[in-house]
Amino acid sequence: MADFSAMEKDLSSILFNEKQIETRVRELGELISRDYSGKNPVVIGILKGSLIFMSDLIRRLTIPLNIDYVAVSSYGRSTDSSGVVRIVKDLDEPIEGRHVLVVEDIVDTGLTLRYLLDNLQSRGPLSVAVCVLLDKPSRRKVDIKPDYCGFEIPDEFVVGYGLDYAENYRNMPFIGILDRSVYEGK
Ligand code: 5GP
Repeated sequence: MADFSAMEKDLSSILFNEKQIETRVRELGELISRDYSGKNPVVIGILKGSLIFMSDLIRRLTIPLNIDYVAVSSYGRSTDSSGVVRIVKDLDEPIEGRHVLVVEDIVDTGLTLRYLLDNLQSRGPLSVAVCVLLDKPSRRKVDIKPDYCGFEIPDEFVVGYGLDYAENYRNMPFIGILDRSVYEGK
């Protein structure tokens, strides 16, 4: 077993281990493969947080598909959403007339997804659906419900499996709650 203790020491607890994530990603893959059979969707990952989830998920999708990415500005070093969203890397290909599945790491206030979905809708896709790994429904500021969700989580700041704090912890293969001592007072 790889030893991640140099990062794990900053967690107050582990929420989902590798096995739990793998099982859930496989279930999502089966569900989405069924729903998108014959639709040849374009799967759009939101960088950088969805990177690991996206790469695991698409390998569980048994249907023909294309992938693309957008990058949006994030929180920076803070753990609270500013509500300010900016596309810093746009899609490579048009999505007009395509079925689109957006893959996001986590939906919190919903502001990021709301902005992105409105933006994507304006480009004339056949459909747009959302798959998130994690959902924090208690923090929602706009009415948005993901079509596919890995896990609902409480109002805690989590890291690992692609999710960062100040660009760290993305490479931990599990998801944990970041201890408040790491970011409080900053
Ligand atoms: P929203 O716009 O829904 O408030 O925030 C979405 C984005 O905020 C996510 O894509 C993610 O980058 C960041 N975010 C929200 N909650 C968390 C969290 O608990 N941990 C981490 N690492 N990022 C989060």
